[in-house]
Amino acid sequence: MLIRRLFMTLAAGVSLMLGVDAFAADAYPAQPVTMVVPFAAGGPTDTVARVVAESMTRTVGQQVIVENVGGAGGTLGAGRVARADPDGYTLLLHHISQATSAVLYRKLPYDTLADFAPVGLIAEVPMAIVARADLPPGSIGELLDYIRANKDEVTYGHAGIGSASHLCGMLMMDALKTPMTTVPYKGTGPAMTDLLGGQIDLMCDQATSSIGHIKSGKVKPYAVTSTSRMSALPELPTLDESGLDGFELTVWYGLYTTKGAPRAAIDKLQSALRAALQEPKVLERFADLATQPVALDQVTPEALQQRLEQEIARWRPIIQAAGVYAD
Ligand code: ASP
Repeated sequence: MLIRRLFMTLAAGVSLMLGVDAFAADAYPAQPVTMVVPFAAGGPTDTVARVVAESMTRTVGQQVIVENVGGAGGTLGAGRVARADPDGYTLLLHHISQATSAVLYRKLPYDTLADFAPVGLIAEVPMAIVARADLPPGSIGELLDYIRANKDEVTYGHAGIGSASHLCGMLMMDALKTPMTTVPYKGTGPAMTDLLGGQIDLMCDQATSSIGHIKSGKVKPYAVTSTSRMSALPELPTLDESGLDGFELTVWYGLYTTKGAPRAAIDKLQSALRAALQEPKVLERFADLATQPVALDQVTPEALQQRLEQEIARWRPIIQAAGVYAD
């Protein structure tokens, strides 16, 4: 009798749990979702996040609110998501630095490969080397000579130790065997403000942010970091063809949530992200920002996890050979 009662109680508990789970899956998201951008507002990662969040808000029927948690090259914001409740209500929109910071920082307060639940890849964009409008060099060749001649009198702004712009600058300095004075910001949004104001000389940023300023002549463009020229800026040479052989740095974006989030939430986020990348409004905006959405079969947790693993493996020897660490 006792055993039977125990069995009944357990069965009721299990069905209640199943009932609650089914309800939660159906209801997700039942409240606003936070999308953490690990850089300051106004930069390229923020811009991409706002385009994606706006579309996802329409699809999931709840506000997807962008929150900028800049600092420590993107690792502060990533840490915030790693430690969030695993309920699918805290997302991370991050880029290549999610992989490179795992190598650039010898100690991180989270495990890059184990503490996040990937949702899918989003888009890719090369970076562009841009300077304040009145920097003297007239071409990338002249700029490289100018850096060699002026060394640490040249000021290079970046989005914090471990960010993509920091990595770009480190690779340039390593290739030129010349130091510059690096100026860290919480994102390239504020760095761009200072470049436009002439407070710093140079930066390397996703073309997303620089293209508008390049076209309006407010910054001086020199080169792009992809191995082929960008169709949106065909007059700009690549660094690879300008003497920095093999230089290649493409920023790729991914969407994550906290490890342990319910499968149903991840599925819903994934289909909202896929819907965003098929929405004409999003595609037009990305085209204006020279940002290339990934193929839809890349918008999967597996594709993002695989990219993350491949990129950690790719950058480890390059960063180690350059002997540069963030800590
Ligand atoms: N472009 C930045 C980076 O260098 C980040 C940003 O503000 O989007 O990583």
